Amino acid sequence: MNRARYFDNAATTPVDPRVVHEMLPFLEEDFGNASSIHAAGARAHEAVELARQRVASLLDAEDPQQIVFTSGATEANNWVLAGFSDAAVSPFEHSAVHEPALARGFDILPNREVEILPPDRRYELISLMTVNNEIGTVWRPQAFREFAESLHSDLTQQLGKLPIDLEGIDYASMSAHKLYGPKGVGALYFAETSPSPYMRGGEQENGVRAGTYNVPGIVGFGAACAIAEDELEENLRHVRTLRETFLNSLSPLSGWSINGGQETSHYVLSVSFEHVEGETLVIEADRRGFAISAGAACSSRSTEPSHVLTALGLEESKRRGTVRISFSKFNTLDATHDLATSLLQSVEKLRTIS
Ligand code: PMP
Repeated sequence: MNRARYFDNAATTPVDPRVVHEMLPFLEEDFGNASSIHAAGARAHEAVELARQRVASLLDAEDPQQIVFTSGATEANNWVLAGFSDAAVSPFEHSAVHEPALARGFDILPNREVEILPPDRRYELISLMTVNNEIGTVWRPQAFREFAESLHSDLTQQLGKLPIDLEGIDYASMSAHKLYGPKGVGALYFAETSPSPYMRGGEQENGVRAGTYNVPGIVGFGAACAIAEDELEENLRHVRTLRETFLNSLSPLSGWSINGGQETSHYVLSVSFEHVEGETLVIEADRRGFAISAGAACSSRSTEPSHVLTALGLEESKRRGTVRISFSKFNTLDATHDLATSLLQSVEKLRTIS
């Protein structure tokens, strides 16, 4: 896949070649188990600790020991939720929060306005994401602070893309593959106390997260964080220009609207086209060499409407005509303009035959 024409970066990003470069030695020569006491193990251990510092630095966390490596954000989310018996989550959460919350019988809040909570109700935990993966809306979980003893936030779509404010947040989840790192690795941040062990086994991660260290993955995650910290502003400017280019190039077309409200991340753009099916547009775009999506990748094989678009109150016809364009630092202005033109042509063609 040509990275410039890949516009599904909220699903996953290509790995930055500099990240691959840092990972390779830990697949080839430095393959030791990071818990072993010999030199090969010690080198792997050192690399894991450097990665922990790099993740902490991007998060602006006080201490690298507040970071526990996991297999991704799904594990981190499930881990936090498993530690509570009385919790509420927003209706816009990713399925990696939504589903465990449903399974545990937690409250799914009707919307994200603090006013909906009775002033005397105090939950053990409230979980609210910062940047939504389907519609890009930016939220501040801190507004809910007074309604919960602990606050959890899924930062997966924010880390490395927008500045992070951990003030008032007790637990946070993240994933490497959304910021040009490898898949299958992520982290849980905790402010004061780590949640009790979720997976039992070895003594890794101070005994709170068992399982042999995924050294190449963790190294890749750390490298991705270090690069993101250096290039965050520059990437943000680039992506903002891409978004503007896309919207300008699409402007001759009528009958479409942007979802997500006033404040959205420049990285995620949700557009509803009237009188067309989002899925058909995804297939048409694919035929022309572009990757976009009709919603969250994890549920794109499901025929159920997205719970996020439903919670947003989008009527059925708009939901069906929704596509998600999610940008990366690797997209070019030319490819972005071509994508918009291609979508415009597809929509016009489909409207004439429907
Ligand atoms: N939360 C959000 C907001 C996401 O976008 C994703 C990835 N689609 C996840 C959690 C799951 O992350 P992972 O793939 O690392 O389990």
